[in-house]
Amino acid sequence: MQRYGIDIWGENDFVIKKDKVCVNYLSSPALFDIVTAIRNEGTKGPLLLRFPHLIRKQIDAVYATFQNAFKELNYSGTFQAVFPLKVNQYPDFLLPLIEAGKPYNYGLEAGSKAELIIAMSHITPGAPLTVNGFKDKEMIELGFLSAKMGHNITLTIEGINELESIIEVAAKMKGPIPNIGIRIKLHSTGSGLWEKSGGINSKFGLTSTELLEAMELLKQNDLLDHFTMIHFHIGSQMTQISNLKKALREAGNIYADLLKMGARNLENINLGGGLGIEYTQNEDYPEITYSLQEYASDTTFVLQGIARAKKVREPHIFIESGRFIAASHAVLVAPVFELFSEEYSQKALRLKPENPPLIEELHELWQYIDTSNALEYLHDAVDHLNSLLTLFDLGYIDLIDRSNSEILTHLIIKKAILLLRDKPVRELTQIQDKIQEKYLINFSIFQSIPDFWGLAQRFPVMPLSKLDTKPTRSASLWDITCDSDGEIDFDSKKPLFLHSVDLDQEDYFLGFFKVGAYQEVLGMKHNLFTRPTVATVEVTSEGYSIKEMVKSDALIEILEDLNYNPDDIREKLYQSIRQSPYIAADEKQQVYRQIETFLEENGYLKTF
Ligand SMILES: *Cc1c(COP(=O)(O)O)cnc(C)c1O
Repeated sequence: MQRYGIDIWGENDFVIKKDKVCVNYLSSPALFDIVTAIRNEGTKGPLLLRFPHLIRKQIDAVYATFQNAFKELNYSGTFQAVFPLKVNQYPDFLLPLIEAGKPYNYGLEAGSKAELIIAMSHITPGAPLTVNGFKDKEMIELGFLSAKMGHNITLTIEGINELESIIEVAAKMKGPIPNIGIRIKLHSTGSGLWEKSGGINSKFGLTSTELLEAMELLKQNDLLDHFTMIHFHIGSQMTQISNLKKALREAGNIYADLLKMGARNLENINLGGGLGIEYTQNEDYPEITYSLQEYASDTTFVLQGIARAKKVREPHIFIESGRFIAASHAVLVAPVFELFSEEYSQKALRLKPENPPLIEELHELWQYIDTSNALEYLHDAVDHLNSLLTLFDLGYIDLIDRSNSEILTHLIIKKAILLLRDKPVRELTQIQDKIQEKYLINFSIFQSIPDFWGLAQRFPVMPLSKLDTKPTRSASLWDITCDSDGEIDFDSKKPLFLHSVDLDQEDYFLGFFKVGAYQEVLGMKHNLFTRPTVATVEVTSEGYSIKEMVKSDALIEILEDLNYNPDDIREKLYQSIRQSPYIAADEKQQVYRQIETFLEENGYLKTF
């Protein structure tokens, strides 16, 4: 049985039971059954499943791990965390997150005005609200209004000009002043795909000289007591802990020196986000080389060491990790609707009474292939096919011959794979590069896993069923956009094998896991495919219930989004129907209705 690396990336969120992958919680429903039930109610196409218990799990883990680390080291600061809204702003995700965070006073981080409005309207009263990113005066005013409304808000300045705006707004507005945080520019950097967020060349933060200037400005304007936090962020999906430790040493020393310079209310070191999660399906290529436990104890240990050495109080540790909290709660399920080689069946052969010699040879290879010669015959077949395609290009064989050669080669490949099924994987891997099966899948890579397109980030993927059978087809995955980038190619370093399935007989779904962070809002409408239907699944001890369904947008809504006028579109279509000589008068009503049905459906393939 192939486990698709579930023991590496799965974090016990999912388990394989018999032939299916199941949610590893309470009644352990199978994903396949959940999806089938939803589809039986009439929803076809890709589905995004949300599991709120997995949001809770991550929040609980973060707080428990830090609290343990504090206890072990006898650390006197406190631990606080906020969720960075840019990771996932959808209400059907955010509301369960806020609920799960209440016992901990878990807060929110906003990076834009729109996110700040979400935070101001939804945050748990008293929970911390931090504001990062570039801010104009309006945004700072919004922050002051938020403080007036009673929120525990910290405005993190990214540059001296923002501090100047704060000074201006503070002089103008009465009432409480928000806490002020300062983002520091570190000389140490992150690592991995997202490293540009940290480091001396990062677009954010104050240099040490600017920091001194900021201290003077704060003092002169009587705002020093509102300065409570220093902040840094070394980039997302941190791959090694050593970079964080370097950054912490730098930040810890800055913190201690600022305290000594009179920043008496400076209490918090905010490490930003970056806590990574494991996406890999192959243990030889891990993405993350540390655990949450290491992250928590190393952080605590380093900051404690600096505080002791410099004889200042131990800072409160504040984090803004988002990916770690959100990624695992969502699974994208996409139906396979065709195996590309299905069309190469024996039925389609059109052998002539006399065929070119190479085709006769292919035919023999197919007849006489057995376990002892499978690999050799398979290589011969691929060679023959290449020669035959050259002959076709030169005009020596015709289209019927070419079709026969392609069919025979595919038949040989399939037979070889079947014969080699129980052999050591080495023999299969020798041929896998040449003979991939294309799985056509009813979803859009651009819409649902844009980080694959943009950053070559691979997400764990596995079939939801047939897990008691050995998968033998090396697979490349093709989406339904008309774009050659809409393909997840076969990677022989991290090979994906899928099953041979007869899709007329059974459904075959692929699950893409850990897609709950960033993917939804980054998703693109390429070819006008919109968000898939989203179902929130509450797993209980008796089974599960669908708490909420957000249907995929209808075609007409997509067009309206692009600023087409729906009435105008309808009118134009109706006019063509009215004027068409091919539609009889008594038929027109029915054609209107048919068109209208299309407009109200989503754009994914309907029958799969
Ligand atoms: C993006 C971002 C985060 C979240 O990063 P993750 O890698 O998702 O944890 C936190 N803080 C800041 C300032 C960010 O820009």
